[in-house]
Amino acid sequence: MPVPAQPGEESTDPRRRIPRTDHLLAHPAVAAASGTMGERVVRDLVRAVQARARAGEITPEQVQDEVLAALGDRPAGSLRPVLNATGVLVHTNLGRAPLSPAAREALRDAAGYTDVEFDLATGARARRGAGARAALLAACPDAEDALVVNNGAAALLLATTALAGTGEVVLSRGEMIEIGAGFRLPDLIASTGARLHEVGTTNRTHLVDYTDALGPGTGCVLRIHTSNYRIIGFTSEVPLAELAGPCRDAAVPLIADLGSGLLAPEALLPDEPDVATALRDGADVVVVSGDKLLGGPQAGILLGRADVIARLARHPLARAVRADKLALAALEATLDGPVPPVLDALRTVPAVLRERTARLAAELDGTVVPHAGRVGGGGGAEVPLPGWAISLEVELAGLLRIGDPAVVTTVQGGRCLLDLRCLPAEDDERVARAVAIARSRAAGEVDR
Ligand SMILES: *Cc1c(COP(=O)(O)O)cnc(C)c1O
Repeated sequence: MPVPAQPGEESTDPRRRIPRTDHLLAHPAVAAASGTMGERVVRDLVRAVQARARAGEITPEQVQDEVLAALGDRPAGSLRPVLNATGVLVHTNLGRAPLSPAAREALRDAAGYTDVEFDLATGARARRGAGARAALLAACPDAEDALVVNNGAAALLLATTALAGTGEVVLSRGEMIEIGAGFRLPDLIASTGARLHEVGTTNRTHLVDYTDALGPGTGCVLRIHTSNYRIIGFTSEVPLAELAGPCRDAAVPLIADLGSGLLAPEALLPDEPDVATALRDGADVVVVSGDKLLGGPQAGILLGRADVIARLARHPLARAVRADKLALAALEATLDGPVPPVLDALRTVPAVLRERTARLAAELDGTVVPHAGRVGGGGGAEVPLPGWAISLEVELAGLLRIGDPAVVTTVQGGRCLLDLRCLPAEDDERVARAVAIARSRAAGEVDR
C-alpha cells in the first residue's frame, strides 16, 4: 500500500518525497509491529530508514518497503538462536548449557507471577526456591542443605566472604586461576576485603603447607579445581580427603570450588571432580556452576553442611547474589527432568555420531574427518572427546553464522568443520537447509 503523496509534496528535491513518520507509523503492518516492539523502537527504526533516504542510500519510494522489511517478524530481543556445530559442549560465548525441553517449559511457566516465595496452601510467605533446593538435595543425598545464587563466581564470593569473616582464606598457589575474560578468582575473593593466605608453589603444594598456615587467623580453606588448564610433570596436590581432617580439627571450614557441576563421577571425564565425592571426602561446602556440566541455567550452587549453608544464607551478600525465579525454575526442572542436553552430547556414542555425520556429509557433498569435541567453559580441562565433523568449503563459515538460524562452526586447516555432537539429531535437517542457503548465497543467487 503506497503512502499517498501529501499536498505540496511534489518538488524537485527528492527528499521532499520521503514518507512522513506519522504516515509510516499508521501503516497497519507497522502499527502491528508495535505489539512485539515498543513504540520507541519502531519509531527509531522508521527514522533510521528515512535517514538512509535523505542520505541518498535508498530512494524515497523504497522507504516504506525498507521499513516493512526491517520490521519483518523481528522479535523484541536481539539474541538469536544458534546451532552449535563447534563440538564444544559448554561454549561460554554461546550461552553455555542449552536447557532441556523440561527446563524451557518451566521457564515459560515461571515467567509470569509464580509462587517462588509463597505457600499457596497457607497463603504465607515461604522459603524462596524451595523446589530447586529440594531437587538439589534429592540429586545430592550427601548434602545436608543447598543454596542457589546467581552464578559460580557469586557462590565462591559468598562462601569465602561469609566463612572467612575477618580471617584469612588459605589457598594453594597452584589454584590461583583466571576463569576467562581477565577474571581471576583470587582477585574476586580479595575484592570483598578477604585476605588471601597463599600456600605451596605453582606446581607443588603439600599437606604441611596447609597445616602450617592453619591458625587463629584462618577464616577458611579454599580448594579450587583448576578446570581450564592442567599442570603436568613434577606436581603434587593434597587430596581433599587428606585436608579435611586437619581443617575439622582446627574448626576451619573447607570450601571446594569444583566449577563444572558434575553431581556424581562421570566415566568419560575421570579427572573431573564431582559433588558427591567432594562432600564424602569432607568438604564442608561445595561450589558449582549451574550452566556447565550440570546442564542447567546460569546459577551458582552451594551444597554442604546445614550450619554452613545457614551461615551463607544469612549473610547480607546472599541477598545481592540471589538467583532469579527463572533460574530457579529451570534448575529444578533440569535436576528432576531427563538427562540434560550437555550430558547427552558428552555421552554421544562415537559410532552413532559417525553414522549421523556420514549421512549428512553425503547429503551435503562434504567429507567426514576426525574432529575432537571438548567440554569447554571451564570443565574437562581440554580433554578431547573423540568424534567426527563434516568438512565443507571454508567460505561457508561466515555465511552460516549470519544465517537464520545462525550456525557456528569451526574453521581449521582452511576448511569449515561442522561437528554435530552438540546438536540433537532433529536439527540435521535445519543444518542441511542452512548449508544449502549459505551455498546459494556464496554463489550470489540470494543477495539478502
Ligand atoms: C566456571 C568456574 C567458576 C565461575 O563460575 P561461573 O558460573 O562462570 O560464575 C568458578 N570456579 C571454577 C573452578 C570454575 O570452573
